[in-house]
Amino acid sequence: MYAPPVQRLITELSKLPGVGGRTAQRLAFHLLRASDEDAAALADAIKEVKERIGLCEVCFNLADGPLCRICADERRDPELICVVEEPSDVISIERTHEFRGRYHVLGGALSPIDGVDPEDLKIAELYARVRDDDVREVVVATNPTTTGEATALHIAAGIREIAPDTSVTRLASGLPVGADLEYADELTLGRALAGRRAL
Ligand SMILES: [Zn+2]
Repeated sequence: MYAPPVQRLITELSKLPGVGGRTAQRLAFHLLRASDEDAAALADAIKEVKERIGLCEVCFNLADGPLCRICADERRDPELICVVEEPSDVISIERTHEFRGRYHVLGGALSPIDGVDPEDLKIAELYARVRDDDVREVVVATNPTTTGEATALHIAAGIREIAPDTSVTRLASGLPVGADLEYADELTLGRALAGRRAL
C-alpha cells in the first residue's frame, strides 16, 4: 500500500507506547510534510540520546556519564535511598522537592507471570548499597500496583535479613491504587512521601 520507506517508518512508529496503527500513520505523514531540518533534528535527537545516555553505575537512573546528577551531588544524603521502578519515577519524586536522599532504580517490578524474577531487577545491587553505605532508611516507592506491592514486600524482607538496623518505609496511601507513580500529581506524591510508613 505504501512505498517501502514509508511503511518502514509507520512500522517503527507503531512500536512506540500508546501509538496504534492509525496514529503511526498520521505521524508518518506529518514527518513526510515536515521540513528536512525538522525531520533530521528528530532523527538526530533519537540517535544522540541512544549514544550518550546510559545508566548510572550506582543507582541505574539515566546518566550522561558514569554517575547520574543525583549520585554526583554531594549534598544528597547517601544514607537515605528511595527505590523506584523506572527512571521516570525519579523525575516524579524530584518534582515534589520533598526528598533529599538518593535513588535506586530497579528497572521494573517483580512479576513471576511475566517472567520477571529478582535476578532480572537491580535488587542485589540495592542490597550491596544498603550494606556498604550504612543506609539508615530505604523508602520503597514502587507503584501501588500488584507487582509494585509484591516487589516492596520482597525488598523489605531482604533488607530485614541483611541489614536489620536499616528501616524500610513505604509511601503513605493516598496514591491512587493501581496507578503508576508517574501519573500522581506533585502534591499527592509529596504528601505520600512525607507520610511514609514502616514496611
Ligand atoms: Zn545515580
